[in-house]
Amino acid sequence: MTSRGEIVALDKRRVWHPYTEMGHYIANTDPLVVGRAEGSRLYDVDGRSFLDANSSWWVCALGHNHPRLVAALRRQAETLCHCSLAGITHPEAAHLADELCAVAPPGLERVFFSDNGSTAVEVAIKLATQFAVQNGAPKRRRFVALEGAFHGETVGATSLGGVEVFRRPFAGIVFDCVHVAPPADTGAYERAFDDIDRALRAAPDEIAAVVLEPRVQGAAGMRIYDDAYLRHVRKRCDEHGILLVMDEVFAGYGRTGPMWACQAAGVTPDILCLAKGFSGGMFPMAATLVTERIFQGFVGDRSRTFYYGHTYCGNPLGAAVAREVLRIYRDEQILERAVPKGRAIARAFGALAELPRVRRARSLGMIGAIDLDESDGTAGYLAPIGWRVYEAALRRGLYLRPLGNVVYVAPPLNISDADLEQLLGKVREAIEEVVTG
Ligand code: PMP
Repeated sequence: MTSRGEIVALDKRRVWHPYTEMGHYIANTDPLVVGRAEGSRLYDVDGRSFLDANSSWWVCALGHNHPRLVAALRRQAETLCHCSLAGITHPEAAHLADELCAVAPPGLERVFFSDNGSTAVEVAIKLATQFAVQNGAPKRRRFVALEGAFHGETVGATSLGGVEVFRRPFAGIVFDCVHVAPPADTGAYERAFDDIDRALRAAPDEIAAVVLEPRVQGAAGMRIYDDAYLRHVRKRCDEHGILLVMDEVFAGYGRTGPMWACQAAGVTPDILCLAKGFSGGMFPMAATLVTERIFQGFVGDRSRTFYYGHTYCGNPLGAAVAREVLRIYRDEQILERAVPKGRAIARAFGALAELPRVRRARSLGMIGAIDLDESDGTAGYLAPIGWRVYEAALRRGLYLRPLGNVVYVAPPLNISDADLEQLLGKVREAIEEVVTG
């Protein structure tokens, strides 16, 4: 087997890492080299253990290598690994779609599969646009999203995105999106209601859809907001005949408490996007769920067809795993058993508020976050302070990826109480080292 040093050398010669300044990485980073993973822990190739504070990019909601998921993948691999879903089908896709609708918010009846969160959103954008064009509202070609929104990497999803540093290089390529003030804990809560009202009133028959990350804007820096905003937007969308899209790619599968974040507000969207926890980190898999009304808007003749489909959409391996994920949620009472774990996160993050330079300690379900003040006042995605906490955490056997000056945890929902206690203790120690050091 190749040594750690050889892997890093090869990696630095060849691999272009996502969201990584490669000059700095090659010159200065001694990366974590993951050899295997189990439960809430990653193990590096030398066998050292690291608690996974962010479920490896928010995906492994059931931890790593859940034995039932591994078994489901193995079983499916022995019968059917891949086939197209274009006008043919297979048992796993059919069952999964049915089982998904059974647990989805009521009214979402049809499932369009794709392979990641960005494509789930891209599907939503195209569905909303085409639905309008061929159902009597051809002027509805604009979208409304929140400032600081994050909906993925494709050009369409980037267009909805409101994180300025991610959007800036693509000015002129991304489509025009109306960004409105977010309702999150940034002091603009009241203004957010007026702002969206104004945006919708300004062009009520030109807007195809409002797209929201329900309850928490993840990549913006774990900005948590009140459910009343979701109810408000649902009402306004209904008044103006605008579709409401909920991007539950991060918030879904119990991350905020209930299975779907929109359930907490008692709101059902017209379109719901999901990925990440959907296939538990075993296989890239996503879905976009729609109401029967939207589905019927594409039925009739070939000119109304949704001409869209990714190679791996509905892949049997992913579908088999996604079905097993749903069974595990039920059999292991994942949501119910996460409630006290969420409380432990809330307590630990609440207590962080007493530390110097810690602002806006907050939590929701299995998420805890704080903002850190930079000594020179810079904040946001490019602030380096979170990375100092990252280094301090790594030295303590904790993998914790910050969002600029925002340090957060989003561990597996089924993390053991002992691991969670250790994780929260290490988070505190790492932050203390940076803010008092
Ligand atoms: N939507 C949201 C809310 C997300 O958080 C993300 C990814 N962090 C995406 C979409 C994109 O998902 P993916 O990376 O699987 O394309």
